[in-house]
Amino acid sequence: MPPTSPLPLLSLASGYGSYPTPAVAAEAAIATIRSTRALPVSEAEGKPELRAALAAHYQRRGAAHVTADYVVVTPGGKAGLLTLLQAVLQPGDEVLVPTPAWFGFWEVIQRAGGVTRMLPLSPDDNYALTPAQLAVALTPRTRLLLLTNPNNPTGRLYTRAEVAALLEVTRQHPELLVLSDEIYDLVRFGDEPTPTLLSFPDPHAQHLVLNGFSKSLMLVGWGVGYLVVPPALARRCAAIQFATGKSVPAPAQAAAQAAVEAADTITADLLAQLAPNRALLLHALAELPNVPALSPPAGTYYAFPDLRAYLPLLAKSPEVASATLVGHLRTEGIEVVDGTGCGTPGFVRLSYAVEPDVLAAALPRLQAALKLIGNAH
Ligand code: PMP
Repeated sequence: MPPTSPLPLLSLASGYGSYPTPAVAAEAAIATIRSTRALPVSEAEGKPELRAALAAHYQRRGAAHVTADYVVVTPGGKAGLLTLLQAVLQPGDEVLVPTPAWFGFWEVIQRAGGVTRMLPLSPDDNYALTPAQLAVALTPRTRLLLLTNPNNPTGRLYTRAEVAALLEVTRQHPELLVLSDEIYDLVRFGDEPTPTLLSFPDPHAQHLVLNGFSKSLMLVGWGVGYLVVPPALARRCAAIQFATGKSVPAPAQAAAQAAVEAADTITADLLAQLAPNRALLLHALAELPNVPALSPPAGTYYAFPDLRAYLPLLAKSPEVASATLVGHLRTEGIEVVDGTGCGTPGFVRLSYAVEPDVLAAALPRLQAALKLIGNAH
């Protein structure tokens, strides 16, 4: 039996913001429903007008070569990742994933027949990934390198110069695919925009992008994602979607198109809502006992504080101690994501894409729970 919480649980665990659908997107979906007698079943690769809008979105960010032929609309980012991996992996192929990384990756890789290999990065240098580290981690079995920029859970944003340096290495392995998960691309707080992988030279056609609407564009729960990949691969992905009945319903695609066309306004609104929460969270984390100072996460709406100092007080195994820690926080009424799932026990992922009053009430609970653990030992 899990311990019962005396307080109503406040959750900072969900990866989805608690935001209403942007009005332009809702209107577009409703108009699609009203304007037809029977809803058309969409093309497996997505509606041409949405694919063109997404190509234009990437062109504006420096990916001049991208046309609608590169784009496949998918039923969410996760489903898009599965389809892509099914299209490119042979059984036993390795997927190299720098960690910490999103806990959802492992099972998708496994279900596509791949084998995950983690490349652990360190909080001490704010999760830098150097060309030298990458070069030694690649093996002849590595079929795909999976980068997430900005990163879930750390919020680390890899700069244009950093990505360029890594691509010097991957270019020496023409058989390797490089997949950039850019689903949080527009959620960023510094001056530098997230550099898309598609804006770099790609002489061997290795560069692939996964993106979606559930994070940066506030279409939470609409189930729309997309891939931007070379046209031959796009056709293979569309064929998998056709064979498995995965075309995205037309109203959701209409909502997505309206959202991408209004991306600047929607993202500005999202960032304006996130900014005070972010400040509140970072301030509270700086006050936590025995927690190393956090480099402010430049992207996403997460922070990933290092609570490893508490692990030896709780259990010998880091994974057991990490789960126990998260259980204690739950007992004090705050739900967080256990970093073990991201490859790093002893860290917790906190989302600040929540109502400000939820965040304000949750943070003192975090502080109190850690004090309790410290005092009990
Ligand atoms: N990639 C990352 C890094 C994510 O965090 C998520 C969702 N948490 C996804 C992909 C999948 O997104 P979707 O909701 O569109 O399936």
